[in-house]
Amino acid sequence: MPELPEVQTVLNGLEKALQGKTILSLECFYQGTVIIDPSLDFDPFPARPVSFVRRGKYMLIHLDSGISLIIHLRMTGKLVLDSTLPQADREILKHERARINLDQDCLLHFIDIRTFGKIVLCRTDNVPNYLPKLGLEPLSSEFTPQTLGQKLNARKAPIKTVLLDQSIVAGLGNIYVCELLYRAAICPMTAATELSQKQVRRIAAETVKVLTEAIALGGTSISDFRRIDDKTGEFQNYLKVYQKNTCPNGHKVKRIVQAGRATFYCPLCQKQQNQ
Ligand SMILES: [Zn+2]
Repeated sequence: MPELPEVQTVLNGLEKALQGKTILSLECFYQGTVIIDPSLDFDPFPARPVSFVRRGKYMLIHLDSGISLIIHLRMTGKLVLDSTLPQADREILKHERARINLDQDCLLHFIDIRTFGKIVLCRTDNVPNYLPKLGLEPLSSEFTPQTLGQKLNARKAPIKTVLLDQSIVAGLGNIYVCELLYRAAICPMTAATELSQKQVRRIAAETVKVLTEAIALGGTSISDFRRIDDKTGEFQNYLKVYQKNTCPNGHKVKRIVQAGRATFYCPLCQKQQNQ
């Protein structure tokens, strides 16, 4: 599932690809993939993108017609830029659920095997109504050991599970939470409320570091994730514990299940008493 670095990678690709282009139309090939705000009483296209914003795992593309596209890739969604043929000659691809038609004979295929991905079209002032409650944005100035600590101290659940809660920190998923806890030397079973200030500082610092490094490498491609040029990211080559047998120190990595999700950690590097 794409997490913050993968979503940011796609958004960066879109910003580059859509530079100077106009969106002509949005087509839907699978019921439920495209959601059009019922209060939208005019045709918003053609329109030009004016800004590209990420909030958690959501991409927001604001258009000059006062309309926004909210794109959520969910499990297997991907956007692929296609500029190879005249628009009329392009057939619907396998698993293509929607299509964003651009001028200059370009388009974006929205391909989604599992069909959980969504594209919402709504007035820009209505965007918040289409987003769930989202917590701290880890690459923004609001994300500090203090603000994170306030959120974590109220939670009795294990830190691994708490960090996956999008209403606490927005954008983290299973891969990066496993990785950042390893880097911060925190046992994933530790109750969030029991973390010391020092441990929270390490979690905050390693969150920013691992996300920044992953964005620089175009994200992690373990299963479906692709950039908009349909190429893979490279951060999967730098994972330390996620789906690994041994940690970088040669210890055996343990796999457990927490709240229905696999957790990978090193019982030696991530001892519960690591204050
Ligand atoms: Zn280890």
